[in-house]
Amino acid sequence: MKDKFFSRGRAVIPIRGIHFDLKGLPPAPSRLLEFLDLLCQARINCVLVEWEDTYPWQKYPELRNQTAYSMSTVKKFLKKAECLGIEVIPLVQSFGHLENVLSKKRFKKFREIPDNVSDICPLADGARQIVMDMVEDVLLTHTGIRYFHLGGDEVWTLGSCEKCKSFIEKNGKSALYLYHLEPIFEFLHARNIRPIIWDDMMRKWNISELKRIAKHTDLMCWSYAKDPFIYVSKQTMDKFLKAGCKIWAASAFKGGDGPYVDIPDKNVRLANMLEWVKYAGKMKMEGVIATGWSRYNTFCSPCESIETSLDTLALSGKIAWDGKLPVDPSEWAKDFLEYSQKKGIRTSHFHNCRAVSEQLQNWRDSVFAQARTYLQQAHLAGEPDRINPFRAKEEKNALIEAFRKVKQYARDWEKVHKGFVPAIWIKKYTLSRIEPVKKIVNLILKNTLF
Ligand SMILES: [Zn+2]
Repeated sequence: MKDKFFSRGRAVIPIRGIHFDLKGLPPAPSRLLEFLDLLCQARINCVLVEWEDTYPWQKYPELRNQTAYSMSTVKKFLKKAECLGIEVIPLVQSFGHLENVLSKKRFKKFREIPDNVSDICPLADGARQIVMDMVEDVLLTHTGIRYFHLGGDEVWTLGSCEKCKSFIEKNGKSALYLYHLEPIFEFLHARNIRPIIWDDMMRKWNISELKRIAKHTDLMCWSYAKDPFIYVSKQTMDKFLKAGCKIWAASAFKGGDGPYVDIPDKNVRLANMLEWVKYAGKMKMEGVIATGWSRYNTFCSPCESIETSLDTLALSGKIAWDGKLPVDPSEWAKDFLEYSQKKGIRTSHFHNCRAVSEQLQNWRDSVFAQARTYLQQAHLAGEPDRINPFRAKEEKNALIEAFRKVKQYARDWEKVHKGFVPAIWIKKYTLSRIEPVKKIVNLILKNTLF
């Protein structure tokens, strides 16, 4: 396979993946299928799919959102991926980040802490079974897969309830973590499927604890910083390897620059991917997955859209294949996306999406900054006699103008995303951008003198 976009004959990284986090701004069904063509074009051969509330759950239909994909769409997606040589790895949360499950009344009793909807109590009767049921549900459609990602990250409240506390006193924290997951690992092994989990809960484990988990599951080391090794050190990964763990890397093509941003920080995304690819190649890691977080958790507002991040998505494929950045990444991405458009994959809206999203982010930031400027004027900040009504009015008008711009670019954002994401999610996204600044502006307009 040769084309002008890639320079090497063989890929530096054997498994080159993109993560679709579908719990925020899920692509319309036709777009979801179309993305596979774009991935293939970018020589990405793996997709990690976090269906969450978009999956057509059979046993627990209450886990579906209002636009969940149909069984037929999921099957078409899997069939098409197979035809294009793209390996699908499904992701089902098993421990932390079970917000979509634990927020439902029926599953409330399984929480580790009563008012925390994130973590499941591993010792609650029936808790593990829910996870098993979800895994089984996903396996109904994902036949013939090699890997299954079980999440397992950020279980911040692990060991908080009385039962778990005394289990830890007797057996240790890692034993509690494994107690919950081992039967699920075994369930997958029996079907010839290798589990994968995020690595963060194991970063402080000692070698003998790691040896116990190494036989069960691969670890996916995640870090989305410019220098990824600030958060997951090379020593930690050496320790994983020494214990016999197979490790993967997770960079981010989007969703790594803050929970409420509208655009990815391109320079950070590319540096992050490049650092991971260099290291993964050297360490012969199993693969590199560029994550694409759409919400930092189920209860966060959505972050930037995939449509706004097509360049970093494509460049992730380029870096994973060639092991380096193109001479001019922006030019490369522009040519690549134009070429894809000519091949019938919709990408021509990308530059508009990026420009509008950038404006939306800048004007939202302006409202926050302008509100601070306004409120810090002397007459509002404890010295009522020091007032220049002219300046106060000017600052207030600047605030009103910034808010008007937010609303204007939010409308533009809706237009450029139309057809790519179901209308209901487009509306929720722009609401999540308008409402916080609207609250600040209204508070100021109601409560201040000028
Ligand atoms: Zn517990």
